[in-house]
Amino acid sequence: MESTTKNLITIEKAKTSKISQVDFNNLAFGSVFSDHMLVCDYKNGAWENPKIVPYGPLSLEPSAKIFHYGQSIFEGMKAYKDENNDVFLFRPTDNHSRLNISASRMSIPEFPKEFFMEGLKTLLELDKDWIPQTPGSAMYIRPFIFASGKGFHASPADEYKFMICLAPSGPYFSGEVKVLIEETYSRSANGGVGYAKAGGNYAGQFYPTQLAKAKGYQQVVWTDDNTHENIEEAGAMNIFVRIGDTLITGPTSDRILDGITRKSVLEIAAAEGIKTEVRTITVSEVVEASKNGSLKEMFGAGTAAVISPIAGFGYRDTDYDLPQLENSYASMLKKRITDIQYNLSEDPFGWRVKI
Ligand SMILES: *Cc1c(COP(=O)(O)O)cnc(C)c1O
Repeated sequence: MESTTKNLITIEKAKTSKISQVDFNNLAFGSVFSDHMLVCDYKNGAWENPKIVPYGPLSLEPSAKIFHYGQSIFEGMKAYKDENNDVFLFRPTDNHSRLNISASRMSIPEFPKEFFMEGLKTLLELDKDWIPQTPGSAMYIRPFIFASGKGFHASPADEYKFMICLAPSGPYFSGEVKVLIEETYSRSANGGVGYAKAGGNYAGQFYPTQLAKAKGYQQVVWTDDNTHENIEEAGAMNIFVRIGDTLITGPTSDRILDGITRKSVLEIAAAEGIKTEVRTITVSEVVEASKNGSLKEMFGAGTAAVISPIAGFGYRDTDYDLPQLENSYASMLKKRITDIQYNLSEDPFGWRVKI
């Protein structure tokens, strides 16, 4: 098999491409994968030999600690193609920094920045034809690390795998989202792992989310584990509330993940002259604002959907509807961010990185 080394990364190309089997006009989110993936192993105390290989199944020890003790973290990012076929990333070094914040918390060895950035670029160049170009579509990028080391002893593994897989994805339509303000279950806790992108955080969300779905809501709004009086996140997205003309989001903490979309929204809003506040948001102030008509918008913010408007919320057996606005902050902010991502506007913040 052909094997070349480009800078740091060894490349073993797929014998045939699967690209002709893919309908790029009907891409679901994150369910089709490109021809190649990147794999880098941690052994004998070091990350070594990142290599790109054909996308395919892995072989693992049944005692690999990922299966038993859940040492697993991930990132979510996108590559965007403009009409000139140029490819861009959005704030990619922030994803690398956060990967290592998650790694430290889960006792996973930190991953070197040059392997991350070079690996990403080399993989995207190789599978460039897989990056969709239709508006709203992008290449969803999933870097992740898990414990591949073996043994039933409940301690950190001695071997890990870092991987990057690419999933060409269509626009992420969440539809009309009604959310349930959750008072029984918690996503995260003081001193816990809520600020890490750890796989187990998601596993723990599925059950309460299923219960909310059975009641007719699409998503859960998480409140603080201690009092359940403060609004923290919407599903796996950061949450914003607009009361009057002020845009409010909670402060990042042990419990609230430091989203890259969240901080981009804050910076763009400020540049647009919108008053922003980063402070605790109470459930009672949101209910009160809804009753007196000053609650204008609520939306989630995250890489997959960018901005996901919330149409209404349920709290203690009462439903509250959000107004339908002509000129919402949500649609303006989404357009500003995606225009930067797709190279359709200037990038005064220096967030766009050309591949
Ligand atoms: C990934 C994630 C977000 C959003 O982060 P982005 O960097 O904007 O994609 C928000 N909350 C949680 C819990 C997350 O896992």
